[in-house]
Amino acid sequence: MTFVVQGLPVARGIAIGRAVLVASSRVEVVHDFIEPEQVLAELARLRTARDAVAAELQRMQREMPKDAPPELTALLDVHLLLLQDETIGAGVRQWITQRHYNAEWALVTQLEVLVRQFDEMQDEYLRERKADLEQVVERVLRRLKGVAPLAAMAAPRARAQDEPLVLVAHDLSPADMLQFKKSVFAGFVTDVGGKTSHTAIVARSMDIPAVVGARAASDLVRQDDWVIIDGDAGVMIVDPTPIIRDEYAYKQRQGELERGRLARLAHTPAVTLDGERVELLANIEQPDDAAAALAVGAVGVGLFRSEFLFMGRSGKLPDEEEQYQAYRRAAEAMHGMPVTIRTIDIGADKPLDDRRESTHLNPALGLRAIRWSLSEPAMFLTQLRALLRAAAHGQVHILIPMLAHASEIRQTLELLAQARAQIDARGQVHGAVKLGAMIEVPAAALSVKMFLRHFDFLSIGTNDLTQYTLAIDRADDAVAHLYDPLHPAVLQLVAGTIAAARAQGKGVTVCGEMAGDPQMTRLLLGMGLRSFSMHPSQILTVKQELLRADAGQLVPWAQAVLASDEPAALLAPHDP
Ligand code: PEP
Ligand code: MG
Repeated sequence: MTFVVQGLPVARGIAIGRAVLVASSRVEVVHDFIEPEQVLAELARLRTARDAVAAELQRMQREMPKDAPPELTALLDVHLLLLQDETIGAGVRQWITQRHYNAEWALVTQLEVLVRQFDEMQDEYLRERKADLEQVVERVLRRLKGVAPLAAMAAPRARAQDEPLVLVAHDLSPADMLQFKKSVFAGFVTDVGGKTSHTAIVARSMDIPAVVGARAASDLVRQDDWVIIDGDAGVMIVDPTPIIRDEYAYKQRQGELERGRLARLAHTPAVTLDGERVELLANIEQPDDAAAALAVGAVGVGLFRSEFLFMGRSGKLPDEEEQYQAYRRAAEAMHGMPVTIRTIDIGADKPLDDRRESTHLNPALGLRAIRWSLSEPAMFLTQLRALLRAAAHGQVHILIPMLAHASEIRQTLELLAQARAQIDARGQVHGAVKLGAMIEVPAAALSVKMFLRHFDFLSIGTNDLTQYTLAIDRADDAVAHLYDPLHPAVLQLVAGTIAAARAQGKGVTVCGEMAGDPQMTRLLLGMGLRSFSMHPSQILTVKQELLRADAGQLVPWAQAVLASDEPAALLAPHDP
Protein backbone atom coordinates (compact mmCIF):
# COMPACT_ATOMS: atom_id res chain seq x y z
CA MET A 1 0.00 0.00 0.00
CA THR A 2 1.30 3.43 -0.90
CA PHE A 3 2.40 5.68 1.95
CA VAL A 4 4.49 8.81 2.38
CA VAL A 5 7.33 9.44 4.85
CA GLN A 6 8.24 13.06 5.56
CA GLY A 7 11.84 14.12 6.12
CA LEU A 8 14.12 17.05 5.32
CA PRO A 9 15.13 17.87 1.75
CA VAL A 10 18.91 17.90 1.38
CA ALA A 11 19.71 17.22 -2.25
CA ARG A 12 17.43 18.07 -5.12
CA GLY A 13 15.73 15.97 -7.72
CA ILE A 14 13.66 12.83 -8.02
CA ALA A 15 14.88 9.27 -7.68
CA ILE A 16 12.75 6.22 -8.36
CA GLY A 17 14.11 2.80 -7.51
CA ARG A 18 14.08 -0.29 -5.39
CA ALA A 19 15.00 0.07 -1.73
CA VAL A 20 18.30 -1.27 -0.49
CA LEU A 21 18.25 -1.31 3.29
CA VAL A 22 21.54 -0.93 5.06
CA ALA A 23 21.14 -2.40 8.50
CA SER A 24 23.16 -1.03 11.37
CA SER A 25 25.19 -3.60 13.20
CA ARG A 26 27.17 -3.65 16.38
CA VAL A 27 30.13 -4.87 14.39
CA GLU A 28 31.55 -2.50 11.80
CA VAL A 29 30.25 -3.63 8.42
CA VAL A 30 31.68 -2.56 5.09
CA HIS A 31 29.05 -2.32 2.37
CA ASP A 32 30.58 -3.12 -1.01
CA PHE A 33 29.28 -4.23 -4.34
CA ILE A 34 31.42 -7.04 -5.72
CA GLU A 35 32.18 -7.83 -9.33
CA PRO A 36 30.07 -10.64 -10.88
CA GLU A 37 33.18 -12.76 -11.31
CA GLN A 38 33.90 -12.42 -7.59
CA VAL A 39 30.64 -14.06 -6.53
CA LEU A 40 32.05 -17.56 -6.15
CA ALA A 41 35.05 -16.35 -4.19
CA GLU A 42 32.80 -14.32 -1.92
CA LEU A 43 30.57 -17.35 -1.27
CA ALA A 44 33.70 -19.33 -0.42
CA ARG A 45 34.82 -16.58 1.94
CA LEU A 46 31.47 -16.74 3.70
CA ARG A 47 31.66 -20.55 3.92
CA THR A 48 35.14 -20.41 5.44
CA ALA A 49 33.97 -17.94 8.08
CA ARG A 50 30.85 -19.98 8.84
CA ASP A 51 32.83 -23.23 9.15
CA ALA A 52 35.29 -21.53 11.47
CA VAL A 53 32.47 -20.39 13.72
CA ALA A 54 30.94 -23.89 13.70
CA ALA A 55 34.30 -25.37 14.70
CA GLU A 56 34.62 -22.77 17.44
CA LEU A 57 31.17 -23.59 18.84
CA GLN A 58 31.87 -27.32 18.71
CA ARG A 59 35.14 -26.83 20.53
CA MET A 60 33.34 -24.82 23.20
CA GLN A 61 30.88 -27.69 23.59
CA ARG A 62 33.67 -30.23 23.93
CA GLU A 63 35.55 -28.17 26.46
CA MET A 64 32.46 -27.36 28.51
CA PRO A 65 33.11 -28.25 32.20
CA LYS A 66 31.06 -31.16 33.51
CA ASP A 67 29.22 -28.99 36.03
CA ALA A 68 28.25 -26.32 33.47
CA PRO A 69 24.53 -25.46 33.49
CA PRO A 70 22.62 -27.54 30.91
CA GLU A 71 21.12 -24.33 29.46
CA LEU A 72 24.55 -23.35 28.23
CA THR A 73 25.00 -26.55 26.25
CA ALA A 74 21.49 -26.15 24.86
CA LEU A 75 22.30 -22.60 23.83
CA LEU A 76 25.36 -23.70 21.89
CA ASP A 77 23.15 -26.31 20.19
CA VAL A 78 20.71 -23.59 19.14
CA HIS A 79 23.57 -21.46 17.81
CA LEU A 80 24.95 -24.35 15.81
CA LEU A 81 21.51 -25.08 14.39
CA LEU A 82 20.99 -21.48 13.39
CA LEU A 83 24.41 -21.38 11.81
CA GLN A 84 23.59 -24.34 9.63
CA ASP A 85 19.98 -23.38 8.92
CA GLU A 86 19.34 -23.54 5.20
CA THR A 87 16.77 -20.74 5.03
CA ILE A 88 19.31 -18.36 6.53
CA GLY A 89 22.13 -19.57 4.32
CA ALA A 90 20.03 -19.47 1.15
CA GLY A 91 18.93 -15.89 1.87
CA VAL A 92 22.48 -14.71 2.40
CA ARG A 93 23.67 -16.44 -0.75
CA GLN A 94 20.88 -14.77 -2.71
CA TRP A 95 22.01 -11.27 -1.69
CA ILE A 96 25.52 -12.16 -2.83
CA THR A 97 24.66 -13.83 -6.12
CA GLN A 98 21.76 -11.64 -7.22
CA ARG A 99 22.55 -8.25 -5.72
CA HIS A 100 26.32 -8.62 -5.59
CA TYR A 101 26.56 -7.52 -1.97
CA ASN A 102 29.76 -8.46 -0.18
CA ALA A 103 29.39 -11.22 2.44
CA GLU A 104 29.13 -8.91 5.45
CA TRP A 105 26.43 -6.79 3.86
CA ALA A 106 24.52 -9.88 2.70
CA LEU A 107 24.66 -11.27 6.20
CA VAL A 108 23.30 -8.19 7.97
CA THR A 109 20.65 -7.74 5.27
CA GLN A 110 19.38 -11.27 5.78
CA LEU A 111 19.58 -10.82 9.54
CA GLU A 112 17.32 -7.85 9.24
CA VAL A 113 14.77 -9.72 7.12
CA LEU A 114 14.67 -12.51 9.71
CA VAL A 115 14.53 -10.17 12.69
CA ARG A 116 11.36 -8.68 11.27
CA GLN A 117 9.86 -12.14 10.97
CA PHE A 118 10.85 -12.98 14.55
CA ASP A 119 9.30 -9.73 15.78
CA GLU A 120 5.99 -10.72 14.25
CA MET A 121 5.91 -14.14 15.89
CA GLN A 122 3.28 -14.85 18.54
CA ASP A 123 5.31 -17.48 20.34
CA GLU A 124 7.47 -15.80 22.95
CA TYR A 125 10.07 -18.57 23.00
CA LEU A 126 10.59 -18.25 19.26
CA ARG A 127 10.57 -14.46 19.46
CA GLU A 128 13.43 -14.63 21.90
CA ARG A 129 15.53 -16.65 19.48
CA LYS A 130 16.11 -13.36 17.72
CA ALA A 131 18.90 -12.50 20.15
CA ASP A 132 20.55 -15.86 19.43
CA LEU A 133 20.42 -15.19 15.74
CA GLU A 134 21.99 -11.78 16.24
CA GLN A 135 24.79 -13.32 18.27
CA VAL A 136 25.50 -15.97 15.66
CA VAL A 137 25.59 -13.40 12.86
CA GLU A 138 27.92 -11.27 14.92
CA ARG A 139 30.28 -14.20 15.37
CA VAL A 140 30.36 -14.79 11.63
CA LEU A 141 30.91 -11.08 10.97
CA ARG A 142 33.86 -11.07 13.32
CA ARG A 143 35.27 -14.11 11.58
CA LEU A 144 34.80 -12.48 8.19
CA LYS A 145 36.99 -9.64 9.35
CA GLY A 146 39.78 -12.17 9.68
CA VAL A 147 39.02 -13.81 6.32
CA ALA A 148 40.68 -11.60 3.78
CA PRO A 149 38.18 -9.72 1.62
CA LEU A 150 38.67 -9.60 -2.11
CA ALA A 151 41.12 -7.00 -3.22
CA ALA A 152 39.25 -5.34 -6.04
CA MET A 153 36.03 -4.48 -4.25
CA ALA A 154 33.99 -1.33 -4.11
CA ALA A 155 34.39 -0.35 -7.72
CA PRO A 156 31.54 1.59 -9.32
CA ARG A 157 29.74 -1.00 -11.25
CA ALA A 158 26.60 -2.35 -12.78
CA ARG A 159 24.08 -4.27 -10.73
CA ALA A 160 22.61 -7.64 -11.27
CA GLN A 161 19.37 -6.12 -12.54
CA ASP A 162 19.03 -2.89 -14.40
CA GLU A 163 16.58 -1.38 -11.93
CA PRO A 164 17.85 1.71 -10.15
CA LEU A 165 18.55 1.29 -6.43
CA VAL A 166 17.79 3.66 -3.61
CA LEU A 167 19.62 3.45 -0.31
CA VAL A 168 17.60 3.51 2.92
CA ALA A 169 19.46 3.52 6.24
CA HIS A 170 18.98 4.50 9.84
CA ASP A 171 22.13 6.58 9.66
CA LEU A 172 25.18 6.82 7.45
CA SER A 173 28.48 8.12 8.65
CA PRO A 174 30.31 10.53 6.34
CA ALA A 175 32.85 7.73 5.79
CA ASP A 176 30.01 5.43 4.66
CA MET A 177 28.84 8.13 2.30
CA LEU A 178 32.27 8.41 0.73
CA GLN A 179 32.16 4.69 0.12
CA PHE A 180 28.73 4.94 -1.52
CA LYS A 181 29.91 7.86 -3.59
CA LYS A 182 31.71 5.31 -5.73
CA SER A 183 28.64 3.18 -6.25
CA VAL A 184 25.40 3.10 -8.03
CA PHE A 185 22.61 4.50 -5.88
CA ALA A 186 20.07 6.79 -7.49
CA GLY A 187 19.17 8.41 -4.19
CA PHE A 188 19.10 7.87 -0.46
CA VAL A 189 17.08 8.33 2.70
CA THR A 190 18.17 8.25 6.34
CA ASP A 191 16.13 8.21 9.54
CA VAL A 192 18.35 10.74 11.29
CA GLY A 193 20.36 13.84 10.42
CA GLY A 194 19.79 17.54 9.93
CA LYS A 195 19.99 19.61 6.75
CA THR A 196 23.60 20.61 7.30
CA SER A 197 24.80 17.42 8.95
CA HIS A 198 27.93 16.16 7.28
CA THR A 199 26.04 13.20 5.90
CA ALA A 200 23.70 15.62 4.11
CA ILE A 201 26.65 17.64 2.83
CA VAL A 202 28.30 14.59 1.30
CA ALA A 203 24.93 13.61 -0.20
CA ARG A 204 24.73 16.96 -1.93
CA SER A 205 28.24 16.54 -3.23
CA MET A 206 27.14 13.24 -4.78
CA ASP A 207 24.47 15.21 -6.55
CA ILE A 208 21.75 12.63 -6.05
CA PRO A 209 18.30 13.20 -4.55
CA ALA A 210 18.36 12.71 -0.81
CA VAL A 211 16.15 13.04 2.25
CA VAL A 212 17.42 12.92 5.84
CA GLY A 213 15.63 13.00 9.20
CA ALA A 214 12.89 10.72 7.86
CA ARG A 215 12.50 9.22 11.37
CA ALA A 216 11.22 5.65 10.97
CA ALA A 217 11.93 5.29 7.25
CA SER A 218 14.26 2.33 7.65
CA ASP A 219 11.66 0.51 9.78
CA LEU A 220 8.78 1.13 7.42
CA VAL A 221 10.45 0.21 4.15
CA ARG A 222 11.29 -3.38 3.25
CA GLN A 223 14.11 -4.64 1.08
CA ASP A 224 13.23 -4.28 -2.57
CA ASP A 225 10.14 -2.09 -2.10
CA TRP A 226 9.69 0.45 -4.88
CA VAL A 227 10.29 3.94 -3.50
CA ILE A 228 10.31 7.48 -4.84
CA ILE A 229 12.56 10.09 -3.27
CA ASP A 230 11.53 13.66 -3.81
CA GLY A 231 14.62 15.60 -2.78
CA ASP A 232 12.91 18.96 -3.34
CA ALA A 233 9.98 18.28 -1.03
CA GLY A 234 11.91 16.08 1.41
CA VAL A 235 9.55 13.12 1.14
CA MET A 236 9.78 9.45 0.34
CA ILE A 237 6.86 7.66 -1.25
CA VAL A 238 6.83 3.94 -0.58
CA ASP A 239 5.17 1.44 -2.89
CA PRO A 240 3.69 4.07 -5.25
CA THR A 241 0.80 3.26 -7.58
CA PRO A 242 1.57 3.28 -11.33
CA ILE A 243 -0.11 6.69 -11.71
CA ILE A 244 2.07 8.23 -9.00
CA ARG A 245 5.16 6.66 -10.50
CA ASP A 246 4.36 8.07 -13.93
CA GLU A 247 3.82 11.51 -12.49
CA TYR A 248 7.20 11.45 -10.75
CA ALA A 249 8.92 10.02 -13.82
CA TYR A 250 7.61 13.08 -15.70
CA LYS A 251 8.93 15.43 -12.97
CA GLN A 252 12.26 13.63 -13.15
CA ARG A 253 12.51 14.24 -16.90
CA GLN A 254 11.64 17.92 -16.43
CA GLY A 255 14.44 18.21 -13.87
CA GLU A 256 16.90 16.67 -16.31
CA LEU A 257 15.89 19.16 -19.00
CA GLU A 258 16.42 22.04 -16.57
CA ARG A 259 19.88 20.73 -15.72
CA GLY A 260 20.68 20.58 -19.40
CA ARG A 261 19.71 24.24 -19.74
CA LEU A 262 21.83 25.24 -16.73
CA ALA A 263 24.84 23.34 -18.07
CA ARG A 264 25.16 25.96 -20.79
CA LEU A 265 26.06 28.52 -18.12
CA ALA A 266 29.23 26.65 -17.09
CA HIS A 267 31.55 28.95 -19.00
CA THR A 268 29.54 32.18 -18.80
CA PRO A 269 31.50 34.68 -16.65
CA ALA A 270 29.95 35.15 -13.21
CA VAL A 271 29.15 38.86 -13.40
CA THR A 272 26.08 40.65 -12.04
CA LEU A 273 23.89 42.93 -14.18
CA ASP A 274 25.81 45.94 -12.90
CA GLY A 275 29.17 44.42 -13.75
CA GLU A 276 30.31 43.09 -10.35
CA ARG A 277 32.57 40.04 -10.70
CA VAL A 278 31.76 37.19 -8.39
CA GLU A 279 34.03 34.27 -7.59
CA LEU A 280 32.27 30.88 -7.57
CA LEU A 281 34.40 28.22 -5.90
CA ALA A 282 33.83 24.55 -5.15
CA ASN A 283 33.69 22.58 -1.91
CA ILE A 284 35.33 19.17 -2.31
CA GLU A 285 36.06 16.16 -0.13
CA GLN A 286 38.78 14.42 -2.10
CA PRO A 287 41.14 15.27 -4.96
CA ASP A 288 39.01 13.41 -7.51
CA ASP A 289 36.14 15.84 -6.90
CA ALA A 290 38.17 18.51 -8.70
CA ALA A 291 36.85 17.16 -12.00
CA ALA A 292 33.24 17.95 -11.01
CA ALA A 293 34.36 21.44 -9.95
CA LEU A 294 35.98 22.11 -13.32
CA ALA A 295 33.01 20.73 -15.23
CA VAL A 296 30.71 23.42 -13.81
CA GLY A 297 33.23 26.21 -14.31
CA ALA A 298 34.40 26.72 -10.70
CA VAL A 299 37.33 29.14 -10.60
CA GLY A 300 39.00 27.31 -7.73
CA VAL A 301 38.37 25.24 -4.64
CA GLY A 302 37.15 27.30 -1.69
CA LEU A 303 36.99 24.41 0.75
CA PHE A 304 38.72 21.05 0.53
CA ARG A 305 37.50 19.20 3.64
CA SER A 306 40.76 17.31 4.24
CA GLU A 307 39.34 15.24 7.10
CA PHE A 308 37.75 12.90 4.57
CA LEU A 309 41.25 11.59 3.83
CA PHE A 310 41.51 10.56 7.47
CA MET A 311 38.15 8.92 8.07
CA GLY A 312 37.23 5.24 8.29
CA ARG A 313 40.84 4.03 8.35
CA SER A 314 40.66 2.18 11.66
CA GLY A 315 43.05 4.58 13.33
CA LYS A 316 45.82 4.35 10.70
CA LEU A 317 46.10 7.94 9.55
CA PRO A 318 47.57 8.89 6.16
CA ASP A 319 51.26 9.72 6.50
CA GLU A 320 52.93 12.87 5.17
CA GLU A 321 53.69 11.37 1.78
CA GLU A 322 50.13 10.17 1.18
CA GLN A 323 48.71 13.52 2.22
CA TYR A 324 51.23 15.41 0.13
CA GLN A 325 50.29 13.37 -2.94
CA ALA A 326 46.56 13.98 -2.34
CA TYR A 327 46.93 17.74 -1.86
CA ARG A 328 49.29 17.96 -4.81
CA ARG A 329 46.84 16.06 -6.98
CA ALA A 330 44.06 18.50 -6.08
CA ALA A 331 46.31 21.51 -6.74
CA GLU A 332 47.46 20.17 -10.09
CA ALA A 333 43.95 19.14 -11.13
CA MET A 334 42.82 22.76 -10.71
CA HIS A 335 45.50 23.94 -13.16
CA GLY A 336 46.90 26.82 -11.14
CA MET A 337 43.58 28.06 -9.81
CA PRO A 338 43.46 28.49 -6.01
CA VAL A 339 42.82 25.41 -3.88
CA THR A 340 41.93 26.16 -0.28
CA ILE A 341 42.64 23.16 1.88
CA ARG A 342 41.19 23.14 5.35
CA THR A 343 43.23 21.39 8.02
CA ILE A 344 41.60 18.37 9.59
CA ASP A 345 38.18 19.06 11.12
CA ILE A 346 37.48 15.87 12.99
CA GLY A 347 34.99 15.40 15.83
CA ALA A 348 31.26 16.00 16.44
CA ASP A 349 29.38 14.31 13.57
CA LYS A 350 32.63 13.44 11.75
CA PRO A 351 34.26 10.71 13.82
CA LEU A 352 37.60 9.39 12.64
CA ASP A 353 36.27 5.88 12.67
CA ASP A 354 32.93 4.62 11.54
CA ARG A 355 30.28 3.82 14.08
CA ARG A 356 32.57 4.43 16.99
CA GLU A 357 30.40 6.04 19.61
CA SER A 358 31.83 9.26 20.91
CA THR A 359 32.65 9.08 24.58
CA HIS A 360 32.48 12.84 24.91
CA LEU A 361 29.49 14.36 26.60
CA ASN A 362 28.90 17.00 23.99
CA PRO A 363 31.07 16.36 20.94
CA ALA A 364 30.01 19.49 19.01
CA LEU A 365 31.41 21.57 21.88
CA GLY A 366 34.34 19.30 22.52
CA LEU A 367 37.74 18.50 21.13
CA ARG A 368 37.10 19.02 17.43
CA ALA A 369 38.78 20.77 14.49
CA ILE A 370 41.72 23.01 15.46
CA ARG A 371 41.30 22.02 19.10
CA TRP A 372 41.97 18.42 18.16
CA SER A 373 44.87 19.37 15.88
CA LEU A 374 46.57 21.40 18.60
CA SER A 375 46.16 18.54 21.03
CA GLU A 376 47.99 16.25 18.55
CA PRO A 377 50.88 18.47 17.42
CA ALA A 378 52.81 15.68 15.70
CA MET A 379 49.77 14.86 13.55
CA PHE A 380 49.15 18.53 12.85
CA LEU A 381 52.78 19.18 11.89
CA THR A 382 52.61 16.24 9.48
CA GLN A 383 49.60 17.75 7.79
CA LEU A 384 51.14 21.23 7.65
CA ARG A 385 54.34 19.87 6.07
CA ALA A 386 52.31 17.96 3.47
CA LEU A 387 50.36 21.13 2.66
CA LEU A 388 53.43 23.35 2.40
CA ARG A 389 55.15 20.84 0.13
CA ALA A 390 52.05 20.54 -2.08
CA ALA A 391 52.03 24.33 -2.37
CA ALA A 392 55.12 24.04 -4.59
CA HIS A 393 52.83 22.53 -7.25
CA GLY A 394 49.96 24.97 -7.40
CA GLN A 395 48.17 27.75 -5.62
CA VAL A 396 47.46 26.24 -2.20
CA HIS A 397 45.78 28.19 0.58
CA ILE A 398 45.59 26.77 4.09
CA LEU A 399 42.39 27.26 6.08
CA ILE A 400 42.09 26.65 9.83
CA PRO A 401 38.70 25.51 11.20
CA MET A 402 36.89 26.56 14.36
CA LEU A 403 39.33 29.07 15.78
CA ALA A 404 38.18 31.25 18.66
CA HIS A 405 41.14 32.15 20.86
CA ALA A 406 44.25 34.28 20.41
CA SER A 407 46.27 31.41 21.89
CA GLU A 408 45.00 29.07 19.15
CA ILE A 409 46.06 31.57 16.49
CA ARG A 410 49.48 31.92 18.09
CA GLN A 411 50.04 28.17 18.38
CA THR A 412 48.89 27.60 14.80
CA LEU A 413 51.31 30.23 13.46
CA GLU A 414 54.13 28.75 15.52
CA LEU A 415 53.48 25.25 14.25
CA LEU A 416 53.32 26.48 10.67
CA ALA A 417 56.73 28.15 11.07
CA GLN A 418 58.05 24.95 12.65
CA ALA A 419 56.71 22.85 9.76
CA ARG A 420 58.49 25.12 7.27
CA ALA A 421 61.74 24.86 9.20
CA GLN A 422 61.47 21.06 9.26
CA ILE A 423 61.06 20.94 5.47
CA ASP A 424 64.01 23.30 5.03
CA ALA A 425 66.13 21.15 7.32
CA ARG A 426 65.44 18.18 5.06
CA GLY A 427 66.40 20.19 2.00
CA GLN A 428 62.96 19.76 0.44
CA VAL A 429 60.96 22.42 -1.34
CA HIS A 430 57.80 24.13 -0.18
CA GLY A 431 55.63 26.81 -1.70
CA ALA A 432 54.16 30.09 -0.53
CA VAL A 433 50.69 29.78 1.00
CA LYS A 434 48.00 32.18 2.00
CA LEU A 435 46.64 31.45 5.45
CA GLY A 436 42.94 31.76 6.21
CA ALA A 437 40.75 31.48 9.29
CA MET A 438 37.31 29.99 9.35
CA ILE A 439 34.80 32.17 11.11
CA GLU A 440 32.33 29.64 12.42
CA VAL A 441 32.16 30.29 16.14
CA PRO A 442 30.26 33.43 17.27
CA ALA A 443 33.28 34.40 19.40
CA ALA A 444 35.38 34.60 16.24
CA ALA A 445 32.81 36.64 14.35
CA LEU A 446 32.61 39.07 17.26
CA SER A 447 36.40 39.47 17.46
CA VAL A 448 36.97 39.44 13.72
CA LYS A 449 39.56 42.25 13.85
CA MET A 450 41.91 39.98 15.78
CA PHE A 451 41.63 37.45 12.96
CA LEU A 452 42.20 40.04 10.28
CA ARG A 453 45.46 41.03 11.98
CA HIS A 454 46.89 37.53 11.61
CA PHE A 455 45.32 35.99 8.54
CA ASP A 456 45.38 36.68 4.81
CA PHE A 457 41.72 35.85 4.31
CA LEU A 458 38.57 34.69 6.10
CA SER A 459 36.05 32.00 5.24
CA ILE A 460 32.68 32.00 6.96
CA GLY A 461 31.41 28.55 7.92
CA THR A 462 27.74 29.33 8.20
CA ASN A 463 26.81 25.75 9.11
CA ASP A 464 28.67 25.84 12.38
CA LEU A 465 28.11 29.55 12.87
CA THR A 466 24.35 28.84 12.82
CA GLN A 467 24.74 25.81 15.08
CA TYR A 468 26.76 27.65 17.69
CA THR A 469 24.87 30.95 17.55
CA LEU A 470 21.49 29.29 18.00
CA ALA A 471 22.66 26.40 20.21
CA ILE A 472 21.13 23.89 17.80
CA ASP A 473 22.96 20.64 17.10
CA ARG A 474 23.13 20.63 13.30
CA ALA A 475 22.98 16.83 13.18
CA ASP A 476 19.94 16.45 15.44
CA ASP A 477 16.67 16.13 13.54
CA ALA A 478 14.67 16.71 16.76
CA VAL A 479 15.69 20.39 16.69
CA ALA A 480 16.08 20.72 12.91
CA HIS A 481 13.03 23.02 12.75
CA LEU A 482 14.90 25.56 14.89
CA TYR A 483 18.06 25.50 12.79
CA ASP A 484 17.72 28.78 10.94
CA PRO A 485 20.59 30.44 9.04
CA LEU A 486 18.20 33.37 8.50
CA HIS A 487 17.93 34.15 12.19
CA PRO A 488 18.81 37.87 12.58
CA ALA A 489 21.69 37.01 14.93
CA VAL A 490 23.33 34.73 12.37
CA LEU A 491 22.86 37.25 9.57
CA GLN A 492 24.38 40.04 11.64
CA LEU A 493 27.48 37.96 12.37
CA VAL A 494 27.83 37.08 8.68
CA ALA A 495 27.31 40.67 7.51
CA GLY A 496 29.68 42.05 10.15
CA THR A 497 32.43 39.63 9.13
CA ILE A 498 32.05 40.45 5.43
CA ALA A 499 32.12 44.19 6.09
CA ALA A 500 35.17 44.00 8.38
CA ALA A 501 37.19 41.97 5.87
CA ARG A 502 36.24 44.22 2.97
CA ALA A 503 37.12 47.33 4.93
CA GLN A 504 40.68 46.00 5.17
CA GLY A 505 40.79 44.82 1.57
CA LYS A 506 41.08 41.17 2.65
CA GLY A 507 39.38 38.26 0.95
CA VAL A 508 36.25 36.82 2.50
CA THR A 509 34.31 33.78 1.31
CA VAL A 510 31.19 32.03 2.58
CA CYS A 511 31.79 28.29 2.39
CA GLY A 512 28.86 26.94 4.44
CA GLU A 513 25.67 25.61 2.87
CA MET A 514 24.27 29.15 2.76
CA ALA A 515 26.60 29.92 -0.17
CA GLY A 516 25.00 27.20 -2.29
CA ASP A 517 21.41 28.10 -1.48
CA PRO A 518 20.02 30.14 -4.41
CA GLN A 519 17.51 31.78 -2.08
CA MET A 520 20.43 33.37 -0.22
CA THR A 521 22.44 34.55 -3.24
CA ARG A 522 20.93 38.03 -3.45
CA LEU A 523 21.10 38.64 0.25
CA LEU A 524 24.79 37.71 0.38
CA LEU A 525 25.50 39.88 -2.67
CA GLY A 526 23.68 42.75 -0.96
CA MET A 527 25.90 42.26 2.11
CA GLY A 528 28.91 42.77 -0.15
CA LEU A 529 29.99 39.15 -0.56
CA ARG A 530 31.86 38.48 -3.81
CA SER A 531 33.21 34.99 -3.14
CA PHE A 532 30.97 31.94 -2.69
CA SER A 533 32.13 28.37 -2.17
CA MET A 534 29.69 25.48 -2.50
CA HIS A 535 29.29 21.91 -3.68
CA PRO A 536 29.81 21.84 -7.45
CA SER A 537 26.24 20.67 -8.02
CA GLN A 538 24.95 24.06 -6.82
CA ILE A 539 27.29 26.34 -8.75
CA LEU A 540 25.21 26.74 -11.89
CA THR A 541 21.97 27.42 -10.02
CA VAL A 542 23.69 30.12 -7.97
CA LYS A 543 25.32 31.53 -11.08
CA GLN A 544 21.91 31.84 -12.72
CA GLU A 545 20.72 33.87 -9.72
CA LEU A 546 23.62 36.29 -9.75
CA LEU A 547 23.53 36.81 -13.51
CA ARG A 548 20.02 38.22 -12.96
CA ALA A 549 20.96 40.36 -9.95
CA ASP A 550 21.93 44.01 -9.64
CA ALA A 551 24.41 44.06 -6.74
CA GLY A 552 24.13 47.83 -6.18
CA GLN A 553 20.38 47.77 -5.86
CA LEU A 554 20.56 44.90 -3.43
CA VAL A 555 22.51 46.87 -0.80
CA PRO A 556 19.60 48.88 0.73
CA TRP A 557 17.33 45.85 0.48
CA ALA A 558 19.90 43.68 2.34
CA GLN A 559 20.07 46.37 5.04
CA ALA A 560 16.31 46.14 5.45
CA VAL A 561 16.46 42.35 5.67
CA LEU A 562 19.20 42.62 8.30
CA ALA A 563 17.13 45.03 10.35
CA SER A 564 14.06 42.85 10.25
CA ASP A 565 12.86 40.56 13.06
CA GLU A 566 11.86 37.97 10.50
CA PRO A 567 14.27 38.17 7.59
CA ALA A 568 12.86 35.04 5.95
CA ALA A 569 9.59 36.89 5.27
CA LEU A 570 11.48 39.45 3.16
CA LEU A 571 13.22 36.97 0.92
CA ALA A 572 11.85 35.55 -2.38
CA PRO A 573 9.60 35.70 -4.23
CA HIS A 574 9.09 39.51 -4.12
CA ASP A 575 12.68 40.60 -3.45
CA PRO A 576 14.21 43.09 -5.94
C1 PEP B 1 30.66 25.24 8.08
O1 PEP B 1 30.66 24.97 9.29
O2 PEP B 1 29.87 26.04 7.55
C2 PEP B 1 31.65 24.60 7.18
C3 PEP B 1 31.79 24.97 5.93
O3 PEP B 1 32.36 23.55 7.69
P1 PEP B 1 31.74 22.11 7.91
O4 PEP B 1 30.37 22.09 7.30
O5 PEP B 1 32.66 21.13 7.31
O6 PEP B 1 31.71 22.03 9.42
MG1 MG C 1 32.34 23.90 10.12
